[in-house]
Amino acid sequence: DRRPAVAAAPEPAPRRKAFDFTELPQVRQLQMQRAAAEMMGIGNPFFRPHDGLAAGTTTIDGKVYDNFASYNYVGLNGHPEVVEAARTAVETYGVSVSASRVVAGERPIHRELEEALARIHGTEAAVVMVSGHATNVTTIGHMMNKGDLILTDQLVHNSIAEGARLSGATRINFPHDDLDALERLLAENRHKYEHVLIIVEGLYSMDGDFPDLRRVVKLKQAYDAWLLVDEAHSIGVLGATGRGIAEHYGVDPNEVEMWMGTLSKTFSSCGGYIAGSRVLCEYLKATAPGFVFSVGLSPALTAAATRSAELLEREPERVARLQANGQHFLKAAKAAGLDTGPSAGYSVVPVIVGDSIGAVTLSNRLLERGINALPIIFPAVAEKAARLRFFITSEHTFEQIDRVVAVTAEELAAVRAGGSAVERLIQ
Ligand code: PMP
Repeated sequence: DRRPAVAAAPEPAPRRKAFDFTELPQVRQLQMQRAAAEMMGIGNPFFRPHDGLAAGTTTIDGKVYDNFASYNYVGLNGHPEVVEAARTAVETYGVSVSASRVVAGERPIHRELEEALARIHGTEAAVVMVSGHATNVTTIGHMMNKGDLILTDQLVHNSIAEGARLSGATRINFPHDDLDALERLLAENRHKYEHVLIIVEGLYSMDGDFPDLRRVVKLKQAYDAWLLVDEAHSIGVLGATGRGIAEHYGVDPNEVEMWMGTLSKTFSSCGGYIAGSRVLCEYLKATAPGFVFSVGLSPALTAAATRSAELLEREPERVARLQANGQHFLKAAKAAGLDTGPSAGYSVVPVIVGDSIGAVTLSNRLLERGINALPIIFPAVAEKAARLRFFITSEHTFEQIDRVVAVTAEELAAVRAGGSAVERLIQ
């Protein structure tokens, strides 16, 4: 018997520097999708670098485009007063506040911004955080718990879904903007949970429509629920002076527990906030992990947002221009036979294409015609709801909108006439 008395030790696995993530099926899937798109000659519309400021027009690689892909809703990004405020703040406080506000990061400009936001929303107080996404995640994650229920419109933003997941509360979606379904869910479930939080958006960024806030408020009162309204796409957009969906409907802002907003759109900065009662805002400042354990908003971003808020208050004609442009775009798009879904024609107007490859192809063809509008494709929306989204600003002109709508209708017809990219490839 030549067998060794003791079994040989297994060979040690070869050492490698770091894990190769292409071993993950989901990473390989993304790589395959990209390779397939390249084979079909569909350029990648994402991550395109812009040369400078993006407003009604933008410059990409030296060429000027009509821009319908930025959230610069009331045209304040790059406004001389906003730039000057940011510059002065950097000169006074430096680029960073270098600590959480709880420790050494508090600056007087943080209070000024929070006062301006509370004024605009008509609430007692506000609290600002370093990102809109983080604001939803930490606020919802922190305020709700296991044993609570969160009722969300099915189209709410990812940051709301993430916050709900973090909270450990039960989350139930209701079909988009179906307030009868919301009422049924409240009737069936209210008694089973300690706290119930309803979450809607002031304007939905996929469909460009908005809920009947008066009815939502009645429902939350009737069922003793809390309400969070995400005003990312409605502040500076809805209402005669841009104070959002409460102003649009004449709802008392103090009927709503939590107003959430971002600083990255109308306020031409970066960050997020909650506006509401003083008690709520003080509680979040003292305990919300995304506030307590994160750096304070940078001086430039803080001052830029404050000046933008002041300009919004001072120049309501910006809101009127945005609203006129949104209505004009919607009317022109409908007249041209485009499918704009349920859009109400304010900050967001989708043009539904019906398949992801078609939406990407249309976006690329528009780029060739000098128009920057980006696709939303599966899995962000259902395949048959793949679309282009047009973000409207006060800086667009009617002539520009007319041309863009006409070219979009023409190119969409050409995309449809050519069949899908897959069909073309196998022909
Ligand atoms: N809420 C909604 C409805 C949004 O659309 C967004 C981002 N577009 C956010 C929150 C997150 O805001 P931010 O990009 O400022 O982090």
